[in-house]
Amino acid sequence: MDYCVNIGIEVHVQLITNSKIFCSCQNGFSTTSNSQICPICSGQPGILPVLNQFVPESAVRLGLATNCQISEKSEFARKHYFYPDLPKNYQITQSDNPICKEGKVTIRLEDGSLKDIRLIRIHIEEDAGKNIHSQISNESFVDLNRAGTPLLEVVTYPDISSAYEAREYLKALRQIVEYLGICTGNMEEGAFRADTNISIRPKHQEQLGTKCELKNINSFKFISDAIEYEISRQKDLLESGNKVKQETRLWDTKEKRSVSMRSKEEAADYRYLNDPDLPILHIDQNYIDNIKNKMPELPFEKFNRLCTQGLTSYEADIIVGNLDLANYYETASKINNSKTLINWILRDVMGLLKDQKISLKECKITAEMIAELTLLIDTKIINNKSAQEVFAVMAKTGEKASHVVKTLGLEQSNDYSFVETILKEVISENPNQVAEYKSGNEKIFAFLVGQAMKKSKGKADPQGISDMLKKLLI
Ligand code: ZN
Ligand code: MN
Repeated sequence: MDYCVNIGIEVHVQLITNSKIFCSCQNGFSTTSNSQICPICSGQPGILPVLNQFVPESAVRLGLATNCQISEKSEFARKHYFYPDLPKNYQITQSDNPICKEGKVTIRLEDGSLKDIRLIRIHIEEDAGKNIHSQISNESFVDLNRAGTPLLEVVTYPDISSAYEAREYLKALRQIVEYLGICTGNMEEGAFRADTNISIRPKHQEQLGTKCELKNINSFKFISDAIEYEISRQKDLLESGNKVKQETRLWDTKEKRSVSMRSKEEAADYRYLNDPDLPILHIDQNYIDNIKNKMPELPFEKFNRLCTQGLTSYEADIIVGNLDLANYYETASKINNSKTLINWILRDVMGLLKDQKISLKECKITAEMIAELTLLIDTKIINNKSAQEVFAVMAKTGEKASHVVKTLGLEQSNDYSFVETILKEVISENPNQVAEYKSGNEKIFAFLVGQAMKKSKGKADPQGISDMLKKLLI
């Protein structure tokens, strides 16, 4: 039987703000538990939350970047549940009237075509604290530093139909929040967390199948592995005449399988009620326009621009996928916008980062430096072989390319008489090969060029050598 796969994803985006969402405690990681808390974020009775203005601003930015409608009025609600890491016994979130509604994120499929993943909503909420379960003793601890961290929750329709699409959607959304500067996008640190709802249904059936939720998986690789596994698990169940149970499952990264965590027979009743402590959030057109005017170039816009500027879609995809790399490339290409530049960045700079396990920020070769190096190649001051040498020195010392070229004496010699002298020597030293070439063995030509390059100690331009050699051998 043929099946349709329906996947909906909820992402919690942790916002970069100085202070928390409803109090002035610092928002950010601390090594000391409960060091960044106050009566408000630790949920003491009688407190009054005050909304951090950067939170709705970030929400509107993300809403605009994902083509959402921005609500003129939105409301905060209390979502009630009990956990030790939630001392108020309710989470402040948005329920019926979220700040953003009905958007879309466009992804590129394997065949290059585009697909819109529709968004139901983006809402604002606070994060809970953390329970820490001791590995040594039979104790648990509560750290409230994270309580009150501002979050945006982005919820899609079940439009995603494969592990590949899920991964592309998450990549696209993560790029958007990084480009907007509202989230680090760091999945390992939990700054960008995805919960995935997966169901399958026979092709002819309209109604969605029973869904399972996969919670808090912290890498793209694990998410797509988990989805693949889950789809085949659900297929096996249906094929063997069983039913899929609605439940929350965890992904076991070692065993590579999902395991049941808790069943979700009915939707939990959180007894949402409007939060009487927080006024209705009004957003007028003026406010939206101000934010619109300050929007940075978004990833898909950058992708399209780079493609029209001569990058292949493969190259543009890599560049756009990493904001640091994008900035690096853009700075360098203002100095030397050539094919040589993109080749050296993607092959040599990226290779260096991989070999040395460093980030672009730690790399000694700056954007300006790689631009200069490729300029020296393009203007034939050095050849590719010398450039490799120069590059290695630059990576070690952080010296400018022109400086290294001078110290190593690598300027390519295009001096006519220098090249001619060398070629005459090569011809007289290799009479047999020259005769073979003249009798029609063209393969010998490359050998003769190689001999001349050796003699020039790599300083001569190979193109110049072969042009002159052809003339001399007529
Ligand atoms: Zn606080
Ligand atoms: Mn949530």
